[in-house]
Parts: sequence; C-alpha cells; structure tokens
Amino acid sequence: MSAPTYDLGTLHGGLRLPGNKEQSTRNPIFEMPIPAQLVLPITQHVGDPAQPLVGIGERVLKGQLIARPDETLGAPIHASSSGTVVAIEPWPASRRFGDTAPCIVIDCDGKDEAIVPADKPADFTTLAPDDLMHRILDGGIVGLGGAVFPTAQKLMQARTCKIDHLLLNGVECEPYISCDDMLMRENAADVVSGAQILMHALQVNVCFIAVESDKPNALRALGEVLGAAKDSRIVLKQVPTIYPSGGEDQLVQLVTNREVPSGGLPTDVGCLVQNVGTAAAIHDWIIGNTPLISRVTTVTGDGVAKPVNVRARIGTTIGDIIETTGGYTDRAEMLIIGGPMTGKSVSTDRVPLVKATNCILVLSHTPSPGPEMPCIRCGDCAAVCPVQLLPQQLFWYACADDEVKLREFGLMDCIECGCCDLVCPSHIPLTADFRVAKSRIRELADEKARAARARLRFEARSQRLEREKDEREAELAMQKESAKAAGPSAIAEILKRKQKKSEDEK
Ligand code: SF4
Ligand code: SF4
Repeated sequence: MSAPTYDLGTLHGGLRLPGNKEQSTRNPIFEMPIPAQLVLPITQHVGDPAQPLVGIGERVLKGQLIARPDETLGAPIHASSSGTVVAIEPWPASRRFGDTAPCIVIDCDGKDEAIVPADKPADFTTLAPDDLMHRILDGGIVGLGGAVFPTAQKLMQARTCKIDHLLLNGVECEPYISCDDMLMRENAADVVSGAQILMHALQVNVCFIAVESDKPNALRALGEVLGAAKDSRIVLKQVPTIYPSGGEDQLVQLVTNREVPSGGLPTDVGCLVQNVGTAAAIHDWIIGNTPLISRVTTVTGDGVAKPVNVRARIGTTIGDIIETTGGYTDRAEMLIIGGPMTGKSVSTDRVPLVKATNCILVLSHTPSPGPEMPCIRCGDCAAVCPVQLLPQQLFWYACADDEVKLREFGLMDCIECGCCDLVCPSHIPLTADFRVAKSRIRELADEKARAARARLRFEARSQRLEREKDEREAELAMQKESAKAAGPSAIAEILKRKQKKSEDEK
C-alpha cells in the first residue's frame, strides 16, 4: 500500500531563528572513546527511578541490565561498557541547576566486553506486535527527542487507539542542535529500518519521515535509502524551517493537516510521533542486539574549541566529552544541556550524558534580555504562540496563582517553546513563569490524587473492619442460638473451648 499524499498544513505563529548549525556539521560524527568512568543515573525516563540490580564491587559487562524500573513509565538501564561498579550515590544531574540524582558509577576496564545476547528471531516480522513491543521495552529505548517517554509504553498506548500514521520526527528546529541531522546523513538506513520495525509493532501502513528544508544532505541520504528499499509505505516529507515545527502537535498539523485537540495527544487523531534517533536506536536493538547505551549529541557554542557531533556512551561525563573533542575556549561562561530555547543551564560539567541529552551548548556569555518591565499588552506573544494561546493572559493568571483560569486558558497545552519570551518587548520571562505554574498545577493534581487514593484506602479498611465485626457478631449470635437449643452442657463445652483457645494464645 502506498502512503496517501497531503498538502502541508500550516503552523500558527513560530519564529524563523538563526540556525547556528553549520559549526557542528562540518565534520563527520566523532566516535568518543570509552571513558575511564561512566556515571549512569537510575532515572533516565519520565517515571520513578529504576531499582539498581548490581552492588558495589560487582563486575558488569557492556549491555548488562543494571537497573530495572518497577512501574509502567520506566525504562531499564544497561551498562554502557564493561568494568566494576564502584559507587551508587548522588551525582550532579542535568535536570535542574544544582540538582543531584542517584547514579551507578562504573570504573571501565577498557575491554568493552559485551554480554552474550539472548536468542532472538532473525526476522522481526515473525514476531507478534505485542512481543516486539516487549522486546523494545527490554532495550531501554526512550524518546530521544528530549521527552524520554519510554517508547514501548507509548507504542502500547497507541495500539489501544486507532492509529493509521507513524510520523518520524527529523525536524530539529531548535538553534545549534544538529545531532538528528548528522544521524540522518550518516545512518539513514538505520532510521528507515527503525521505521519498518515501528510500523510492524503498530500494524500501520503509512509512515512519513519529516525533515526540514534546510537539511539537504539528510534529505538526500534518506531519499537514496528509500529509493533502494522500494518501500512505498514510507514517504519523505520536507517541511518549512520554522521554530517550533518539531513539536509533536505542530508536526502532526504540518504533515497530515490533522489538529490535535487541546489537552489531547497525536494518537487522538490517529498519529504516533517518534524521533528519528529513537527509530535508529530501535534498529540497533532489534536488529543489532545493542540496547540503548550510546547516542549522538551535539557539542557546540562559542565556548568550545571544536563544535562537532559526537557518539558517546551514556554515562560519559560532559567534561570528558568536551575535553576529548577539543576543550573549552577561554571565553566559555555558561553550560547548557539542550538547546538555547528549551535547555537547562547546569553548574558543573561533571553531569553525565543521559539518554535525553541531544546537545551540550557552551556559550561565552549569559543571555540577558534586559530588565523586566510591565506588560504593555502589545499582543506580540500571542502572534507567535504556536499553540494559539494568550501568553499575556496566562502571565496575569500565573501571577495571581489562579489555577482555574490557567487551565481554562490552556496553560497545560503550552509546549514551553520560548517564542513568547523572545518577542516580548517588556522582557517578561513568560516561559519560566509558565513552567513554574505548570509544575505547581501538576503537584496539586498529584496531591489530590494521593489524597483520593488515601481516602479510598481508608474507606476500604473501614468497610472491611465493619464487615468483620458484623461477621463476628453474626457468628456469636448463631453460637448462642445453637447453645440455647442444645442446653447447659453445650454452653459449658463452648466456654471450655474458649478458655482453651485463650490459654493457647498466651
Ligand atoms: S509580548 Fe510582552 S508586553 Fe506584549 S502583550 Fe505579551 S507579555 Fe505583554
Ligand atoms: S512558551 Fe507556551 S505560551 Fe509561550 S509561545 Fe510557546 S507555547 Fe505559547
């Protein structure tokens, strides 16, 4: 079956930003050597931390499972190389400034000895879709576009909806980041193979690989692979270079002309979106038996001597990566994990590369938009918002901590793209305020859910105690009735039994 054709939908708002990607795409992907030490956080997915399965002093092999999640939104963690576990301790993390996270620390032995892979069928199409999804889960695959949602869970959830389109997201619209571009140029066949595996898991017959028009080399490489594969179900789509066209909902709109409803997901309109890097990771695991233990990341900015894309083992520290690829410049001042729009600044380069790390950006200056001033209601923020929100109204309700109005005005649909900040003449840090307001609302919702669960538990316990009391009373009444009917000797027998029971219990 051939993929249907669509006219590209339009993206509301958005901005054309300077790409700053040429610096890091001049050279091929650099293969980072195995570092002396690996630091593997046990939380590299959206759910609760995984549970370590190894102890200090234990030898581990490349690809060995070292931490397993105990709830549905987690993903397993594997050792990225062979060596010895030397610590399980808090380590600087790239989630928030100054934050730490529990990590498994491995001193590498340099042998890179791999675990013997489990038997698997040579042809993935012989696997039932559910079995394929469970295999994807075992590979520790998460969304590599930055969301780190476990891929298998996303696929399983999608299988419960009526999905007819798979979209591979090769739209890397945030300035400076070029890891997906380089991956598509150099590993286009793996991306296409990953798409075919995903299509089998989802049982869909249409896949669009979306790539921005400013990536001619990636488009050419994918075009050649698709031409050779002769798989008419997969179609390459060139989309305009505009930020943030790589947002999931925005991409669905652009490529299929379907609008994801407010508060909804792409699956609500029959689409599932996966990053091209995730597709390549699925290929590596299902075809190559290598779980997610490395990734391509961009090292760039005027604070590094040699901007480049690097393939490094998960757990390599950012400092090791920068040092090996050329080091800092004298002007390096600020380290950001992620891009300039959505990344997080960190206080130390001891933080490790994790599955989510798509960019290591070092700048020679701390971006300073100027002093914040009152809103002049110019409306520029609303004009650029890709979700068609009213940021100035949201800002007002965020200041007033008005959860009801914030929800009513669609705060939870905000994708934190930062476009409103960039155009605001009053330099109001709108996105940061929205991020805080969203976490506050999520915390309140979590608190309410926890309180509701505690109430249900209390009610269930009270009902059980009440039921047991009724049962005891009914039994006593029955005993009395039968004793009455049997006469005084039976009463004496019952008293004797009770006395013996209480003596036994003593
Ligand atoms: S862009 Fe800034 S000043 Fe203009 S309406 Fe929005 S918040 Fe107010
Ligand atoms: S950060 Fe949120 S409110 Fe601001 S432009 Fe982006 S989506 Fe709209």
